[in-house]
Amino acid sequence: MKMKTNHQSTSPLLLKKHQLVWIINGLKKNRFKKIRRVKKTCRSSSKDYKEKKEIARKLVKEKVERFNSFYAFKFGRISIRNQRTRWGSCSSKKNLNFNYRIIYLPERLADYIIIHELCHLKELNHTKKFWALVSKTFPDYKSINKELRTNGFKCL
Ligand SMILES: [Zn+2]
Repeated sequence: MKMKTNHQSTSPLLLKKHQLVWIINGLKKNRFKKIRRVKKTCRSSSKDYKEKKEIARKLVKEKVERFNSFYAFKFGRISIRNQRTRWGSCSSKKNLNFNYRIIYLPERLADYIIIHELCHLKELNHTKKFWALVSKTFPDYKSINKELRTNGFKCL
């Protein structure tokens, strides 16, 4: 199909190392193909996950510590996962989970994901109180949320 050809020719270098970008591009082009593409990427990413997991853990820990020096929330464990649809999550036991693919994101988006999950330590919801916490360090969270949605990212 023409659409597919266009897509491949516009981002040939992104197929392996920047799978995320590839998924995002795919989502924009054709919603119907979304599930297949995500599954394919998921299978091919297990090797990448093993290779990059510790890099991701280091990056995430560093960012969590940096941002939490402001918030000073208590948290349990930080886990790095190879999830298909989520960027991060925060459990009721105050454990933080992050998708290892965060290392491929632009710094601003990665920072936002960290801050978003950090704020769930205090507010495990998306109420006004929660967004007020986010906006203390990320005042333009609305535009970034929009950016994430437009690009086919799942809610955090
Ligand atoms: Zn959230």
